[in-house]
Amino acid sequence: MHETIDLISHAALRELRAFTSRTRQPTHLELMDVEPIRSVANIEITEEHITLTYNQKTTHRYNANEVTQKEWSYKYNDDPEFVRAIGAVIDLARKHVRDMPDNVACPPGCAECCSGYEPFVNREDVQRIAAHLGISYEDALRSYVVQRESADGYAIGYLKKVTDDIASRCVFLKGATSGRHYCGIYEARPHDCAAFTPIGCEDVDRSLRHDRSFVPGLPFRPRHPEQPRGKRRR
Ligand code: SF4
Ligand code: SF4
Repeated sequence: MHETIDLISHAALRELRAFTSRTRQPTHLELMDVEPIRSVANIEITEEHITLTYNQKTTHRYNANEVTQKEWSYKYNDDPEFVRAIGAVIDLARKHVRDMPDNVACPPGCAECCSGYEPFVNREDVQRIAAHLGISYEDALRSYVVQRESADGYAIGYLKKVTDDIASRCVFLKGATSGRHYCGIYEARPHDCAAFTPIGCEDVDRSLRHDRSFVPGLPFRPRHPEQPRGKRRR
C-alpha cells in the first residue's frame, strides 16, 4: 500500500511540476490529496458539476461520533468524455423511467402497516375518532392514545396497540388473521394512516392475492360506550 501511495505521490509530483512549468504558478505536493477513491458514499450531479463524497470514516466515541470524508467536485460540462458518461446515465434513467414498484395496491385484508407502525395522532384525529365512536374527546384520548406530544406540539401521541409490544396490532384493527384484517374506524382513521401509501410498500403481506374480494365485518365499537350524562349506571 505504501508503495502504491509512493507511486501515486511521484505521479502527482510530476503532474504538479508540469502544471507549474505550463502556468508559472507555484505548487506544493502537500496540498495535493493523493488518497485514492476507495468507497463512494454519495454522488451528486447537477447540470454543471459532479460531486463525490468518498472514503467516509466514522470514529465512535462514548458521547459523539467523528465522521470524516473526502469531497471531490468537478465541473464536467465542458469535458466531452464526462458529458457522454453522464448522458449514458440519463439514457439509462429514460429506459427505466416507467419501471413499476413491486407493490402498488393493498391486497384485500392486508394490514401489516397496522402492526409495524405507530400512527401519530393530532387533536383533530382524536376529535374525529371520538365523534365516530360516540364518546368524549377525553375518553378517546385516554382509551386509545399513548400520549406523547411531539416537539412542535402537533402530534399528541400515537394509537395504542393491543398489547404493550409496540409491534403488536393497532387497537382498532379488526379481523383475526392477515387476509381478513380491516380498519375498524376506517372513515375516521388518523391522517397518518390515510396518508400511508401502498405504492412501493415493502411491508405488504406477499402471501395475499390482490385479486380476491373481501367484505369487511362489523366496525370497531368501544367496549364500554359512554353513557349519556345522568344515565350512567351506579
Ligand atoms: S400493502 Fe402496505 S400499505 Fe397496504 S395494507 Fe399492506 S402493509 Fe399496509
Ligand atoms: S387506525 Fe386503522 S388504519 Fe390506522 S393503524 Fe389502526 S387499524 Fe390501521
